[in-house]
Amino acid sequence: MNIHEYQAKELLAKHGVPVPAGHAALTVEEAVAAAGKLPGPLYVVKAQIHAGGRGKGKFSELGPDAKGGVRLAKSLDEVEANAREMLGNTLVTIQTGDAGKQVNRLYVTDGVDIAKEFYLSLLVDRATGRVAFVVSTEGGMDIEAVAHDTPELITTFTVDPAQGFQPHHGRAVAFALKLTGDLNKQAQKLARHLYDAFMATDCSMLEINPLVVTEDDRLLVLDAKMSFDSNALYRHPDILALRDETEEDPAEVEASEYDLAYIKLDGTIGCMVNGAGLAMATMDIIKLNGAFPANFLDVGGGASREKVTAAFKIILKDPAVEGILVNIFGGIMKCDVIADGIVAAAKDVNLSVPLVVRLEGTNVEQGQAILANSGLPIVAADDLGDAARKIVAQVKQAA
Ligand code: ADP
Ligand code: MG
Repeated sequence: MNIHEYQAKELLAKHGVPVPAGHAALTVEEAVAAAGKLPGPLYVVKAQIHAGGRGKGKFSELGPDAKGGVRLAKSLDEVEANAREMLGNTLVTIQTGDAGKQVNRLYVTDGVDIAKEFYLSLLVDRATGRVAFVVSTEGGMDIEAVAHDTPELITTFTVDPAQGFQPHHGRAVAFALKLTGDLNKQAQKLARHLYDAFMATDCSMLEINPLVVTEDDRLLVLDAKMSFDSNALYRHPDILALRDETEEDPAEVEASEYDLAYIKLDGTIGCMVNGAGLAMATMDIIKLNGAFPANFLDVGGGASREKVTAAFKIILKDPAVEGILVNIFGGIMKCDVIADGIVAAAKDVNLSVPLVVRLEGTNVEQGQAILANSGLPIVAADDLGDAARKIVAQVKQAA
């Protein structure tokens, strides 16, 4: 789960991380009031969307010469004018895709005189199973380009979980940033606070780009992005409360309400499968047969008829879906329950695309009978290979 920049900064500030003052705003009036609470005279109005590259982004509704999603304002009037232009409009950045994201929230924050911009992130490194620090003096810009063109300017090290954060980790961060004197000390302290915040919140990624040195020699977090391990959110109701569903794919939000693991993909064959491994195999075999899956969907082990119906409807809401492949192994889940759900959902939504079903396991005969007697044009398949061949052929025939 991702959160907004302003939320990440509030969370980090609680852990002693230095961030500029700022306030979130949902309306132009709130934005002006937020600026009024800041010392001024320099303010920055920042679009709050779950995507980076806002500074260089463009608003679709405003011409190519309009400013992006991070704007400097030198008075309350300028804050107001910028807020008015940004709120409700669509910001397209390198990370949003062409459709962009509507800006519904702003963050009004202190304008900072920047001397240097650095990059600093923490993430769970799967290769070592440890939390890694990634540090570079080349911040503010595209870190992927730095990694590609000048990898020697990026320092990476990991923290042994048994030992936790040690003073030498702090020194390594300060050294990588080539800081001396008091700034070196600030960097060591910052590294520890960031690590503590990361661990305390079950964070999976914390990216600060840029971390800046101000003209008056302070180290400040100017942009922050945090993602959390969704399997650990039950331990953090306060973080779960920060979820902004308007930033997520509506189908994925709906799926999560039914406890379905759904991920939208780019293909045309909708998939409903039980078990993540079987779902992956199903997607592979669809590709092997020359088509692409429209989604990943794991209905889980003990799905009810309601859950299957919901899954079916979610798949069909995707206009790219030209056919559906149901591949269920009835172990805990019984094939007749699945079949009931499929028939109910297909009738409910007036199914208009081909449907191939492969059932195997407990109560498979009853399940197949329910499908066969449903009066619906459901194609039964014998095994996974047969199912994939049949759905791909059906979709090609329909096209
Ligand atoms: P994004 O990464 O989405 O483009 P950032 O928050 O990193 O958004 O902002 C882009 C750039 O805008 C920063 O690299 C920095 O140069 C400038 N900037 C951001 N916040 C401030 C601020 N509070 N004061 C001064 N400049 C800022
Ligand atoms: Mg940034």
